[in-house]
Amino acid sequence: QHSSSSVTKDQDGVKKNLSSDRVIINLDHGDPMMFEEYWKRNGDKCTITISGSQSLSYFSDPKNLCWFLEPEFGEEIKRLHNVVGNAITEDRYIVVGTGSTQLFQAALYALSSPGASSEPINVVSAVPYFSCYPAITDFLKSGLHKWAGDAWTYDKEEPYIEVVTSPNNPDGNVREPVVKRNGGMVIHDLAYYWPQYTPITSAADHDLMLFTVSKCTGHAGARIGWALVKDKDVAAKMKDFITISTIGVSKDSQLRAAKILRAVSESCQNTGLGNVKNIFSYGRSRMNERWERLRAVIKQNGLFSLPEYSNQFCNFLGECAEISPAFAWLESKGKIEDTESFLKGHNIITRSGKAFGVSNKYVRISMLDREETFNLLLERLSTL
Ligand code: PMP
Repeated sequence: QHSSSSVTKDQDGVKKNLSSDRVIINLDHGDPMMFEEYWKRNGDKCTITISGSQSLSYFSDPKNLCWFLEPEFGEEIKRLHNVVGNAITEDRYIVVGTGSTQLFQAALYALSSPGASSEPINVVSAVPYFSCYPAITDFLKSGLHKWAGDAWTYDKEEPYIEVVTSPNNPDGNVREPVVKRNGGMVIHDLAYYWPQYTPITSAADHDLMLFTVSKCTGHAGARIGWALVKDKDVAAKMKDFITISTIGVSKDSQLRAAKILRAVSESCQNTGLGNVKNIFSYGRSRMNERWERLRAVIKQNGLFSLPEYSNQFCNFLGECAEISPAFAWLESKGKIEDTESFLKGHNIITRSGKAFGVSNKYVRISMLDREETFNLLLERLSTL
């Protein structure tokens, strides 16, 4: 009784607060809270209990190249990719990381060491690129790699690493490498290559691919990502990086992630079983609905434009699907020069185009927040 009345109070309180113009709507980060509702309804299969005697050892699988990968998690990664059809896992090494953020650093280390050249290797990505890449690349002023900016304009006759994010954060477009030079190395960041965001058109088959539970199932707080790596030496160096930086990756999180991925695969394979809609179909319908509503508001207020995407056949859904990105990439059409400041003036926090290497006429807005926050965003945009 007590708890149910306080929940009601909370919800009332939230509603009251949210209807106020002064409430700050923070959509700067891509925090995937949209999926909370799904897991509240369908999450009981993912509950795990970890006893006091579990997870003591540093080691998960001493015979595996990635000795800190929980075998159970490795199996569920392969199974999920097979079920979704978004990546080839055969003849690949799996390296687990503390989020794909750590794996990106591990990949930079692996591809730039040991001293392929005496100068730090150039790291590029086509604008608009994910805003975290420059900071991660240069944060420690590494002697191994340095941020060299936009891949479209890269013209140095030097070794380079290109980061290809597909679908892209921030603008949702499907991408390929743009520099395409002999000896060029590529990191494919496929954080958003899941059916709720984009049609799955083929199984990705690149040398080095990064994935994360953060955007796949919404469990960003578990801090778990994985890399699928073709080359054994590259995989071994990535493993070395993670050994040196954190002596492996939380076993507790891997066990939890294994359970979550298993539940996801099972819900995809047994459609209708226990009436659990799989998270991709759920996410797809939510994203479609949000995009439709956002486009209607943007059209009505006339201040901004949004990218247009074409439909494609999704092998996973078995039907044509739109690209419904995790972020809205908004461009001001007219007088507004600095869209981030303009929206900030209306208590909407977004990330400026500047952070993504382009003009501040653009901003990135997360589409993955809770329903009440998204509703409030639309309400406020419609009054500008
Ligand atoms: N790559 C891209 C393109 C992302 O958008 C994000 C998260 N915003 C990451 C990597 C990092 O994900 P993780 O939570 O796994 O570190």
